[in-house]
Amino acid sequence: MPTSWSDSMEKAPANGGIAPTSRASRTTYVPPHLRNRPSSAETSGAPVPHAGPALGNDTQGHVGPAVGGSHSVGHRRDRSGGGGGRGGGGGGGWNNRNGGWDRGREREANPFQDDVDTEPEFGVQENTGINFDAYEDIPVETSGKNVPPPVNTFAEIDLGEALNLNIRRCKYVKPTPVQRHAIPISLSGRDLMACAQTGSGKTAAFCFPIISGIMTNSQSGPRPPRMPRMAFPIALILSPTRELSIQIHEEARKFAYQTGVRVVVAYGGAPINLQLRELERGVDILVATPGRLVDLLERARVSLQMIKYLALDEADRMLDMGFEPQIRRIVQQMDMPPPGERQTLLFSATFPKEIQRLAADFLSNYVFLAVGRVGSSTDLIVQRVEYVLETDKRSHLMDLLHAQRANGVQAKQALTLVFVETKKGADSLENWLCINGFPATSIHGDRTQQEREYALRSFKSGKTPILVATDVAARGLDIPHVAHVVNFDLPNDIDDYVHRIGRTGRAGKSGLATAFFNENNSSLARPLADLMQEANQEVPAWLSRFAARSSYGRNRRGGGSGGRFGGRDFRRDSNRGGGMDYYGGGGNANNGYGASGGYGGGYGPTVTSAWD
Ligand code: AMP
Repeated sequence: MPTSWSDSMEKAPANGGIAPTSRASRTTYVPPHLRNRPSSAETSGAPVPHAGPALGNDTQGHVGPAVGGSHSVGHRRDRSGGGGGRGGGGGGGWNNRNGGWDRGREREANPFQDDVDTEPEFGVQENTGINFDAYEDIPVETSGKNVPPPVNTFAEIDLGEALNLNIRRCKYVKPTPVQRHAIPISLSGRDLMACAQTGSGKTAAFCFPIISGIMTNSQSGPRPPRMPRMAFPIALILSPTRELSIQIHEEARKFAYQTGVRVVVAYGGAPINLQLRELERGVDILVATPGRLVDLLERARVSLQMIKYLALDEADRMLDMGFEPQIRRIVQQMDMPPPGERQTLLFSATFPKEIQRLAADFLSNYVFLAVGRVGSSTDLIVQRVEYVLETDKRSHLMDLLHAQRANGVQAKQALTLVFVETKKGADSLENWLCINGFPATSIHGDRTQQEREYALRSFKSGKTPILVATDVAARGLDIPHVAHVVNFDLPNDIDDYVHRIGRTGRAGKSGLATAFFNENNSSLARPLADLMQEANQEVPAWLSRFAARSSYGRNRRGGGSGGRFGGRDFRRDSNRGGGMDYYGGGGNANNGYGASGGYGGGYGPTVTSAWD
């Protein structure tokens, strides 16, 4: 259940632990991970800022359930004796794993695996190797009415002590450009449409304000209704793929460690029962793929009526994958509060028409933020394009890999991601590489969730330093140490290319991207040559010739209009032209820029433009 409230000084009743509601004025928020703990006086664990007093066990060691739970939930827990610690599955048992007062206590695993007693300070440790100096000059553009100013340090933002400590544990020394802008905008309560890619630090950019907001407002606001077995998250983060959802969940759990904010993930391709059990234990932030969430909503196991924060990550990808009906169902046709009553943060690498329409429908008086796209405005990624016939691709790849080895690069530092077009092609190339002595694994849509996760782990650890992937892995995945991205088969769309090469040169690290080009890729010649030129890369003469020959319609994704960004604030165009060029009707009155064509002068051509 999302929020749990109990009378501050009382222990949970023995009847399954439903907290009394009669003295509402004295109720105190009990964060999910504290719900089954003894009272704070008995607890010797680490302090939990912003948390209300712990909900104690009764003398039988029964567990006090979250509000919104029911007798049945409480009894079921007792009956099964199961549940165990977080993520413990059904094996341990709520009350059986530990003896004494600790029975029933849900331990929060330390995602940092560090010594929780040491408090790292900003700037003291080395950072994660990210070359922020190289990342400094990334262009940032904001537009909208009364845009809150950016910050330069985390210390300037009041995120709360527990979250600050976790930021230090993450070794984040200073905010990335998207964080510098997005965090103050979100903390001010504004909706945000952000054009930023994976690798820019966008996960933290939307997680920090959400976690901080939940911590700050945990003791005010309405309570969730009591509905049997229904979870009432306060924040929903929608993401296109299981892998990205898992990754966001992992990151968010780190950020939320010991804040009392509980993060749960739900995605398809994995048993729903385990996810249902996790939801029953309480959820403040739900990270979900659209398909699985619709399933949970249809089963009446999740209600969105308490949603205060909605974040859509990789929104363009979600639409590409055909999730628009599910997303609209979730956001507009269920019980989620409308724009204006919730805060909506929409992140997308590009802003084609469909995304702009979504923004117009989902956001209210939003700030538009565009962060320069990876590879177009920095020289962090060295892009090479080589003319390779289909029949020569394998031997050419072999040459590249041999050269990498000859340069004495350690496998772990030289993770190589190879993109191919088809699932069959991925399997076949993986096999061929292995036969030829190059440890490789693959990830694509035909592999089970377990296989994908295993492949990703094996790749990340350097055990199999070559990962052959279809576009499934192109976006969202935070794979550190990818030194080389090889476009064995080039995509048809330049934005897919940008996403793919964004797997290297992440968050300020430099990387190499090699593409194999031949006649089959003629339609990409022009946008590719333009993109490389924009990024100060050397464009081979033969590619320029291909580009000159190819008929160049506007890039499907509007790269032309977005320039060095993946997109631009279309309200500016509508302002100038007096109409809504991109918006195809059905506007949302909440946006405040309906037929009149925009705010009067709030953002025209003279928008805020920041070059950090
Ligand atoms: P994302 O774009 O959210 O996938 O983040 C890319 C990578 O940058 C992840 O490994 C993050 O942990 C890391 N990261 C995000 N923000 C910061 C920061 N302020 N300082 C250092 N690393 C960061």
